[in-house]
Amino acid sequence: MVQPTALYSPDAILAIEGMDEIERMEGAPNPFWNPTRFEVTWGLVAMTGLTSPPHVQVEPMRRATRDELTLFHDPSYVETLELFGNMGNAFSKRFGPPSPECPVFTIMHEYEAYTVGATIDAVVGVAEGRFKNAFSFFGGFHHALESKAAGFCYLNDCVVSLKVLKQLRPDVRILYLDTDVHHGDGTQAAFYDDPNVLTISIHEKSMGFFPMTGGIEEIGTGPGKGYSVNIPLPPLTDDVEYWRAFEEIVIPLWEAYQPDFVFWEVGADAHMNDPLADLMLTLDTYQRLSRTVREMVHLGKQNLVAVGGGGYDPVTVARVWSLVLADMAGVCLPPTVPLEWAEMCERLGLKVTRVGWTDRPHRIEVENVSKIRNAVDRTIKGLKELVFPIHGLT
Ligand SMILES: [Zn+2]
Repeated sequence: MVQPTALYSPDAILAIEGMDEIERMEGAPNPFWNPTRFEVTWGLVAMTGLTSPPHVQVEPMRRATRDELTLFHDPSYVETLELFGNMGNAFSKRFGPPSPECPVFTIMHEYEAYTVGATIDAVVGVAEGRFKNAFSFFGGFHHALESKAAGFCYLNDCVVSLKVLKQLRPDVRILYLDTDVHHGDGTQAAFYDDPNVLTISIHEKSMGFFPMTGGIEEIGTGPGKGYSVNIPLPPLTDDVEYWRAFEEIVIPLWEAYQPDFVFWEVGADAHMNDPLADLMLTLDTYQRLSRTVREMVHLGKQNLVAVGGGGYDPVTVARVWSLVLADMAGVCLPPTVPLEWAEMCERLGLKVTRVGWTDRPHRIEVENVSKIRNAVDRTIKGLKELVFPIHGLT
């Protein structure tokens, strides 16, 4: 019998009463909450046959309980989120004013609690051997802190689910790999002194770019020193330079650390089409990332859970996550995206410009090549000096 990849259906979230309020909400248009993002992503996996058994098992999302959420979050923060419907301004005053990225809206607790519940179930299901691996598309809220919402994130499903895993298997060694274009600051902060959670975040870092943290010098503290790793990359970094950094830093650390459990935040916002960020990755890099992660997990006999994370061009998000899911589940994708999906995107006002699973290669403009290469060199060299010796690497 084939052991399935678990995939979490957005039906429960889409059925929340008041979901349509999101479309009328003030603030930056945000596909994290925009039903279009769910429809387009789910539409593509369903229409390509990826949601069918036996390779993929579709699971419902469920709300995380308060006991689960408070494994990481401050109880009064969770309570305030829950009660927000009656006390909106109290939330604002206590946890920072609403921002375009974190507006206050009445169903925010319910919405986010579903994303946390799904990620917990993914982690526990894989840890208990019910699934080969799991992908929770609508999780990955890596910026949320213990009692603070930030960067579209109110509750941190990555941290909460890993805390649940640590309760279940106290000696587990976790690799948290974050390839979202933004630094995984919330998750890093939660495990900053913990040598049993190696966090590696590879992200854009530039003047004023959210969340502005994630320099190479942030390496953890106390017993966790050397177990927080940051790979900052300059704007316009392309496939070649990105992959060079990944191979030089991530692979050796992964091999040296020998995790039992790999948790991958697969933000699709490092893709060149993303409107909010400046890295220039194509689908080729996502394909390569996905194969590499799968092979490393397989060779090390490790567990794997992936979560969606960021990505603000819904068509790109759908293509990236479909590729990753197909790879995790061991399913071949059809040569092109289904015509009916392209038509669906069009109806929603979105353009599908590539029907295959590749992009035109992107080349850095000549005048920027050496600047980017030198910046990546500095990052690699710095990390090899700061972090590698702690892991017995030279
Ligand atoms: Zn992001």
